[in-house]
Amino acid sequence: MTTIATRFAPSPTGYLHIGGARTAIFCWLFARKNKGRFILRVEDTDQQRSTPEMTGAILDAMNWLGLDCDEGPFFQSERTSLYLEYIQKLVESGNAYHCTCTPEEVERMREQARQKGQKPKYNGQCRDAGIKPGPDTVVRLKAPLTGRTMFRDLVKGPISFDNQELDDFVLQRKDGSPTYNLAVVVDDIEMKMTHILRGDDHINNTPKQILIYQALGADLPLFGHVPMILGPDKKKLSKRHGALSVMAYKEMGYLPEAMLNYLVRLGWSYQDEEIFSRQDLIEKFSLDNLGSSACVFDVNKLTWLNSHYIKETAISRLADILTEHLAPELIPNDRSYLEQIIPLLQTRAGTMQEMAEMAEFFLVEDTNLAFDNKAVAKFLTPEAKEYLKEIAFRLDNNLNEFDQNSLEQEFSAYIQEKKIKFKAIAQPLRVAISGKTASPGLFETMEVLGREKVLNRLKRASG
Ligand code: GLU
Repeated sequence: MTTIATRFAPSPTGYLHIGGARTAIFCWLFARKNKGRFILRVEDTDQQRSTPEMTGAILDAMNWLGLDCDEGPFFQSERTSLYLEYIQKLVESGNAYHCTCTPEEVERMREQARQKGQKPKYNGQCRDAGIKPGPDTVVRLKAPLTGRTMFRDLVKGPISFDNQELDDFVLQRKDGSPTYNLAVVVDDIEMKMTHILRGDDHINNTPKQILIYQALGADLPLFGHVPMILGPDKKKLSKRHGALSVMAYKEMGYLPEAMLNYLVRLGWSYQDEEIFSRQDLIEKFSLDNLGSSACVFDVNKLTWLNSHYIKETAISRLADILTEHLAPELIPNDRSYLEQIIPLLQTRAGTMQEMAEMAEFFLVEDTNLAFDNKAVAKFLTPEAKEYLKEIAFRLDNNLNEFDQNSLEQEFSAYIQEKKIKFKAIAQPLRVAISGKTASPGLFETMEVLGREKVLNRLKRASG
């Protein structure tokens, strides 16, 4: 039995973007599900636009998502001699030929075809001219002139192209370099790929690639083209819809498991389930459930999944990630303090960046606590300040333990004595200790802050 093999083949001309990451995830999942091979191939033949920094960034993003590969990364830029061998084979077998037509001549042929209302293409002038290799020749595939090239797309179903639409396209340029389609096919044959999953922006390359396979007498892999991702306005997802790079989402505080789960669901479904662990995905993934129409990227759903994973994640890992999102001067020396703060925020934060913002008041020096001016004007009234002074006195003197229970009892005694509702002191207290009108529960917040900080802050706010 042949081992299932897939590959992710990014061009390192930019960061790993949402669409590329989703393709990579599908390939990786399909390989893992079928106990197959997942290969990473860097398509860096465009020397002007490819950079090692981008290759590094793509590898980092794959690593972050946990997409481990079994072989590679292979670099196309290091494999030119292999591509040239294949071109040579095609020429020797009569399936490709050298052509001396200049780009201007080819443009003229295209124009003539256009005028006749035909598809603009190279007219095959050198096809049977027996031209020898020379400094000014390109190598073209001798493509079939009639018939159709067909394949059953794993996602979109049967697809067929009229061969008359395709021309004798170039396999090797005048400067000796192999073209994109040739290199892809050679690699996919050499790497024994069984399934090619890629974005549907490549669908027009597929018939050309099939013709190269056929000319080489090689077995065809199966092809599946996944639909593109759209923005909320149903236009192709682009920068104006928000960040495209996967790692920008890491920086915004999304967890890799949320990103993985979200991207898989964007185009794949399993019953009506939404939450999938990595293991679930490996077990349940199948190409049959890939949708054939374009999907809309919805950052709110990603955030919803992220909050779910934040709730599920161990405190110590959250502490590591949270640290990356905090300003250096806010990172406490005592890590256990951070680990006490996190459970209070874990149910409230949509992203780790948001958690970092929520954690800030716990971490600033008491004298640096920033107050929201509106909240101060509304809640720190002269009357409220008097309450806060009395409360500070009581918390200083009446409590042995500074924990939620004792705090709750002390406050209930206080409001009974004063014949006031808790409401009269809740917001002033919250503003005093956090600077804001929203925070986790008051008693748990005070317990974590500890007596000293609470007293300092009450004194500062009531002074
Ligand atoms: N290098 C191509 C890209 O980044 C992928 C080609 C393929 O998967 O066949 O879009």
